[in-house]
Amino acid sequence: MLALEERPCPICKTSDHSVVYRESTYDESRWTQASFSSRKVPEYMHFRLLTCGACGLTYGSPVASAEAASQAYRRASFEASVESTDAARTYAQYLRKQGFEPGRALDIGCGDGAFLRELLRLGFREIVGVEPSEAPVRVASEDVRPLIRQEMFDRALFAENSFDLVTCFQTIEHVYEPRKLLEDIFRILKPGGKVFLIEHDLGAFSARVMGEKSPIFDIEHVQLFNPRSVRYLLTQTGFQDVNVFSILNAYALTYWLKLFPLPARVKRGLLASLAHPALRAVGAIRIPVPAGNMAIFGTK
Ligand SMILES: [Zn+2]
Repeated sequence: MLALEERPCPICKTSDHSVVYRESTYDESRWTQASFSSRKVPEYMHFRLLTCGACGLTYGSPVASAEAASQAYRRASFEASVESTDAARTYAQYLRKQGFEPGRALDIGCGDGAFLRELLRLGFREIVGVEPSEAPVRVASEDVRPLIRQEMFDRALFAENSFDLVTCFQTIEHVYEPRKLLEDIFRILKPGGKVFLIEHDLGAFSARVMGEKSPIFDIEHVQLFNPRSVRYLLTQTGFQDVNVFSILNAYALTYWLKLFPLPARVKRGLLASLAHPALRAVGAIRIPVPAGNMAIFGTK
């Protein structure tokens, strides 16, 4: 059972301009430890969502307490190394297109370190990842495991003005203080250093047509951004040249199927068929789809 807490807009810190966006579909009896696992089969369950009229952010309130969530994250399971590799490869392509100086890099919420490997490939030499969950760090492969610190990101771990690049993927929806996180990233970046985020876009076509069946409506997401609110967050924090654009994600067919809104029985049947040795190659085909994710770059 989760204790729920009310909270103001985590960017503006008031509730004065907030209106209900969606009522809660949280059902205590369906909540399990797996609810906080990376890339689970979606549960279609979320806390009440409010939209802030001042900054455009949509945020959960009341939500599970930060304490309950951080315990759940520490113990969350992880079974996604193929998907994390696909995602990391996609994100690295966008970083390459933006241009970068390979120097010192930090990946916050690095999971099994798939993106750390991409940073090595791109020529970065001083690389650190932080990841609070035990499971992904346990399965991280030898080449990147020594680069990962298994703990919650804390600015005190790193010196000010010390990174050329800080990345943070699919994470700012999960943290309770997204504004503090961006302020911390700003401080540890060198002047001219870049932040690179990938997040769900609440305003994306896929999120709008799928409605309640979109996997972005989830109890793990204590806020949801759109281009306007994420731009606001970065400019308020002091970032310049903020660039927000939608991306294509290339994932295996089996992964898309997991996320697609089909009846649970049909979905289980199809996934079981694709697990058959004769069809495994079909399930592994990588397909680029506009999945409602946006990339965000900002410069200090
Ligand atoms: Zn706000």
